[in-house]
Amino acid sequence: MSDPIQLGLVGLGTIARNQHLPSLEDVPALRLAAIASRHAGHETLPSYHDVVEMLAKEPGLQAVSLCTPPQGRFAQAVAAINAGKHVMLEKPPGASVSEVEGLARLAREKGVTLFATWHSREAAAVEDARALLAEATIRRAKITWKEDVRHWHPGQEWIWQPGGLGVFDPGINALSILTRILPEPVHPVAAHLEVPENKQAPIAAKLDMQTASGAPVQAEFDWRQTGPQTWDILVETDGPDILLREGGAKLFVGGEERISAEDREYRRLYARFAELIAAGESDVDLSPLQLVADAFLLGAQTRVEAFHDDP
Ligand code: NAP
Repeated sequence: MSDPIQLGLVGLGTIARNQHLPSLEDVPALRLAAIASRHAGHETLPSYHDVVEMLAKEPGLQAVSLCTPPQGRFAQAVAAINAGKHVMLEKPPGASVSEVEGLARLAREKGVTLFATWHSREAAAVEDARALLAEATIRRAKITWKEDVRHWHPGQEWIWQPGGLGVFDPGINALSILTRILPEPVHPVAAHLEVPENKQAPIAAKLDMQTASGAPVQAEFDWRQTGPQTWDILVETDGPDILLREGGAKLFVGGEERISAEDREYRRLYARFAELIAAGESDVDLSPLQLVADAFLLGAQTRVEAFHDDP
């Protein structure tokens, strides 16, 4: 077996600690060698203030994984790509569609891999749902994605700022699954965004879409749900209904549970990153980000009650 790819990780926050660090330990093709984070250091690995310092002091790095918020990720990715490193991007891959298209061009010019990840597409039941829907006629689909922002994003300011996506930060996970499992493309026809009067980004949104052949697809996103959390996608077809629950971890076909499996999303992402690097390829699918951008373009806005972390 060849030597593991030396990887630097940028942005030691919630997702880096909860998923990236433990998952990397299980992927032998990659070796985490350094960290860059302005306010946090790793217990044992060399830690730097930012990606530029890390790249200067760790010339042996071959790849960089960006776990920072979408705003600011473009400059970090440019620095890494220009230094000849392969780059993996957390979702959403950027704060705008065109900046990520620019990164993809730059990566091609420099001959490095760019991987725009969609972790929810790696949920256990997503590929089975895709296979079941491949030959089906879609009658309608409904996304219901409702969670408690205070529980999942305590104190995070960037999610409420321009480019932070608001409730589309989790909602884009549903859209990443939808665009993977449906056998035809979808486009938004109307959107309604509810924006707290003290914030820049929506706390709830409704999105009406259509498949290319005209079947309606509705999505409801809400960050105000306390109690049980809901991450469901229901697809009605000419055959049995296909229902993904718990963010794609569970699959029901015609009401019967077919799959329920443990979470291996980030292990699969890192294994795929190593495969892409070995093959000299990139994987940059912007369709989920494009749908969110279109929702902002089409969205009628209502100002709603101010949001505070402490209710
Ligand atoms: P987070 O807890 O705020 O962590 C992000 C880290 O990035 C911070 O700890 C910060 O570390 C660094 N950073 C660099 N520039 C920053 C800036 N301008 N503002 C704030 N932090 C900055 O965020 P997160 O929840 O890990 O999310 C990061 C990315 O992962 C997002 O794109 C998000 O959509 C995605 N994601 C999150 C989750 C989740 O459940 N939280 C799940 C899947 C994906 P320093 O201050 O030390 O530099």
